Amino acid sequence: MTDFTATRALFRLPENVVYLDGNSLGAMPVAAAERARAVIEQEWGGELIRAWNSADWITLPARVGDRIARLIGAPAGSVTTGDTLTVKVFQAVAAAVALRPDRRVVLSDSGNFPTDLYVTDALLKALRRGLELKVVAPEHVADAIDDSVAAMLLTEVDYRTGRLHDMAALTARAHDAGALAIWDLAHSAGALPVDVTAADADFAVGCTYKYLNGGPGAPAFIYVAPRHADVAQPILAGWMGHAAPFAFDLDYRPAPGVERMRVGTPPILALSVLDAALDAFDGVDMADVRAASIALSEQFIAQVEARCPALTLASPRDSHARGSQVSFRHPQGYAVMQALIDRGVIGDFRAPDILRFGFTPLYIGRDDVAKAVDVLADILDRGSWNAPRFHARAAVT
Ligand SMILES: *Cc1c(COP(=O)(O)O)cnc(C)c1O
Repeated sequence: MTDFTATRALFRLPENVVYLDGNSLGAMPVAAAERARAVIEQEWGGELIRAWNSADWITLPARVGDRIARLIGAPAGSVTTGDTLTVKVFQAVAAAVALRPDRRVVLSDSGNFPTDLYVTDALLKALRRGLELKVVAPEHVADAIDDSVAAMLLTEVDYRTGRLHDMAALTARAHDAGALAIWDLAHSAGALPVDVTAADADFAVGCTYKYLNGGPGAPAFIYVAPRHADVAQPILAGWMGHAAPFAFDLDYRPAPGVERMRVGTPPILALSVLDAALDAFDGVDMADVRAASIALSEQFIAQVEARCPALTLASPRDSHARGSQVSFRHPQGYAVMQALIDRGVIGDFRAPDILRFGFTPLYIGRDDVAKAVDVLADILDRGSWNAPRFHARAAVT
């Protein structure tokens, strides 16, 4: 059994804050701050450029990739890290459509995060091969898979509602039609058990600043199924993905395997912080995380529905059809969330009317959930959210 009292002690959270936004930016592991200081002062400050070898900076993208691989059911050597998730989506889609040159459609759904759709649409237009992004409602994806589809690009957990796709079933369906499956695990990695091998995914991508607690803007990851890794075409042919970067050849030759998905110089400070943050998952069983996250979510839904009639559940009621977040709708959701944050209960808001709450058992427990509901009920009972200062929109919601 995972010891959640022990994992909670690994994080530093401010006093008097209930943090229910780990689905957007994970809390800070104490080890991350310590590692940042050590890397800056000892490795960068002391070793200078020698640290690429002496501290093995050059293999850090792969070493961190292997730690993420364990959390998503991928074999060692099949995941690399760097860049942002938007870039990793771009690379995965480009590689997938090149593997299905006779097909025209990339299929996605309207529950996907906008950047995945924007970057895919822009890529398909730039390729000038008559490729098209088709976006259907999440419940219509299975029926929309046909032999025009080169690749299906789906985010397993809907960022607004928390609705969970059936990764194995949809992947099997795509494969039956001869299409490839690309899974975005932004709200899955570190939140639920994921098994890209069992689901037979072709590509998977994700960010690491949400449930993996890697810090703001932490590097993204990409998985390429071993059967594709030596043939996938890297659209961003960068020197770090070259077979021999320090040969400085004028011609590009992709590195073997997933290393070809590296682009430029890795962000060592950010990767080091992420590496330290991943220590929090050592000895953690993702099945325990899932069970605890469901228990916290169920507690939250039951108490909110009993005490806050102004809120409507926007997430699936069946816990097995949800990721690790719960969303409620309120017509003045933005102001309600600002009032909550003002009282130390931190969630977030997604337009037009969604209040999102993330449940992260590594550092959130039953007492936190009970306290959050008390404050939420109080704000709604008193109408204190209706103060003018809670209606002023900040740049980031
Ligand atoms: C959070 C999130 C992103 C963010 O992409 P970045 O490039 O890291 O800004 C993209 N896609 C999904 C599905 C997300 O949830």
